[in-house]
Amino acid sequence: MNYSDAAQLREKWGDKPCAHPEIEAEVEVGHPSNNYVCTTCGKVGEGNQWNTTERKDLN
Ligand SMILES: [Zn+2]
Repeated sequence: MNYSDAAQLREKWGDKPCAHPEIEAEVEVGHPSNNYVCTTCGKVGEGNQWNTTERKDLN
C-alpha cells in the first residue's frame, strides 16, 4: 500500500477503534521504510508485528 492510499484510509476511518486485523508494507518510491499499514484504518506502525500488540491493548 502506498502512502497516499494509507492517508485516504485514515481520513475515511477517522477516530474509530480498530483491531488492525491485517497490515501490509507501506510502499513509497524513494523512501524505503520498515513501516506497515493497517488495511482497515490506515494506521502506520513500525515493523510487521505492531498490530498484534495494539490488538492486545484494545482488550
Ligand atoms: Zn487498523
